[in-house]
Amino acid sequence: MDVLVIGAGPAALAIAAALGEHALAVICLAPGDPAAVWPNTYGIWGPEVDALGLGHLLAHRWSNCVSWFGREPTQHGHDYGLFDKVALQAHGLAACGAAGVRWQQGLAATIAHDDSGSTVMTAAGTSLRARLVIDASGHQPVFVRRPDDGPVAGQAAYGIIGQFSAPPIESDQFVLMDYRSDHLSERERSSEPPTFLYAMDLGGGRFFVEETSLALAPPLPFASLRQRLERRLAHRGVTVTRIEHEEFCLFPMNPALPDPSQRLLGFGGSASMVHPASGYLVGGLLRRAPGLAAALAAALARQRQAECDAAAIAAAGWEALWPAPLRRKHALYRFGLEKLMRFEEGQLRHFFATFFAMPDELWYGFLANTLTVPELVGAMVRLFATAPNDVRWGLMQPRDRELALLGRFLAGG
Ligand SMILES: Cc1cc2nc3c(=O)[nH]c(=O)nc-3n(C[C@H](O)[C@H](O)[C@H](O)COP(=O)(O)OP(=O)(O)OC[C@H]3O[C@@H](n4cnc5c(N)ncnc54)[C@H](O)[C@@H]3O)c2cc1C
Repeated sequence: MDVLVIGAGPAALAIAAALGEHALAVICLAPGDPAAVWPNTYGIWGPEVDALGLGHLLAHRWSNCVSWFGREPTQHGHDYGLFDKVALQAHGLAACGAAGVRWQQGLAATIAHDDSGSTVMTAAGTSLRARLVIDASGHQPVFVRRPDDGPVAGQAAYGIIGQFSAPPIESDQFVLMDYRSDHLSERERSSEPPTFLYAMDLGGGRFFVEETSLALAPPLPFASLRQRLERRLAHRGVTVTRIEHEEFCLFPMNPALPDPSQRLLGFGGSASMVHPASGYLVGGLLRRAPGLAAALAAALARQRQAECDAAAIAAAGWEALWPAPLRRKHALYRFGLEKLMRFEEGQLRHFFATFFAMPDELWYGFLANTLTVPELVGAMVRLFATAPNDVRWGLMQPRDRELALLGRFLAGG
C-alpha cells in the first residue's frame, strides 16, 4: 500500500478519502465496523460549513446565535450548525468508497520502520505494510509522539438532551457561551473555576444544555459540572422532565505539537490539530485534508522512480501539516489559553465581551484559524488595546510556560 491510515473517526475518513482521490493505494485500519456510529456530536459555524459545501449535512442550523457576558446578550451575527453525525460519517465513508479506500479490521499495536516504509502489527497479529503510516487514532494516539512540555488542559462538559418544565433558552436559539453566574455565591464566583452554558433548541420541545469548562488542568470533574448545570437551571425555575441522552465531554485543548522527526504522520486529534482557543477540530481537518493529501501525493510520486525514502515522505507530510506560520499561530493560541485559564470569572466575561466586540472577520477568523500571522497578531493587539484594565493587567503578567510559548512564536514556531 502507499498509505495506511489508522482509525475511522472524522480525521481518518477525511484524509483517507482525500488521498484516495490522488489514485494512491490507501487502507484504513479500524478496531471495529467503520460504520459504527461515532460517539461525539460536532458543531460548526455556518460560514465554515458553507465554505466546505457541506451545509446539507447539518441536522440543525440557527441564525439566532448569542452569548452572555453581561446583562445583555451579545449577538454573534453568524449562523451556527450542528452536524447530523450519521450523515457526516456516511458522507466520509462514501467518499472513501468512491476513492477506492480499503478497510482492515484490527487494533494497531506495534510499528516498525525501515528505509522504504513501515510495518504495523495488529493486536491479533496481522501485519500491514505501507510507504507511509498516518496515525488518526484520536487525542490519545497509538503511535504519534508529542513532547511533554507541562500539564495538558482538558475541555470538560456535562450535557443533557431532553425536555424541560420550561424552555431553558429562547426558542430557535443557539447559545455559544452563557457566562452569567447569578446562581453562584460571591465566594464561588471568586474562588472556583468559571464555567459556562452551551445550549441549543433542537425543536419539538427538545433542548441540549451543557455546562462547560473551557480549559483546566486537571480538568473539572463531571460531578461539579452536573451540579453547576442543575443549579443554573433551578435558578431560572427550570427542571429536567425527560433525559434522552447524557453527554460526558472531555478532550485535551493544548497538547504540544508532535515531533516532526518521527517516521509516521498524524492527522486530527493525534496531530494536535484541536484549536487551542476553542476546542474545535472537525471544520479544520475537513478544510485541510485535501491540501495535505496533495502534498503527500507529490512526495510519494517523487519517491516512485528512485528507491523509496520513507523518512522523506513523512518529513514532507509534517512540513505540509504544520508549516512555520501554523506553528507560530499555535504557540500564540496556546499562550492565549494559558492566560484565560488564570482569569477569574469577571475577567473572563470582560475578555470575551471585548473579543466578540471586534470586527466579525477578526473574531471569526481567530476561532476558525483562518487569519494570517500578522492578522492574528493585529487582532491580539487590538484586543489588548480595547480591553478593560482588569483584562489588560491579567494579560501583562507572564507566568510559567507563557514566556516559553511567546519565545516559540518569536523564534518562528
Ligand atoms: C462529547 C464530545 C463532543 C465534541 N464536540 C466537538 C465539536 O462540536 N466540534 C469539534 O470540532 N470537536 C468536538 N469534539 C472533539 C472531537 O470529538 C474530537 O476532537 C474528534 O472526534 C477527533 O477526531 P479524530 O478523528 O482525530 O479522533 P477520534 O474521533 O477519536 O477517532 C479515532 C479513531 O481511531 C480509532 N482507533 C483508536 N485507537 C486505535 C488503534 N490502536 N488501532 C486502530 N484504530 C484505533 C478509534 O476507534 C476511532 O475510530 C468533541 C469531543 C467530545 C468527546
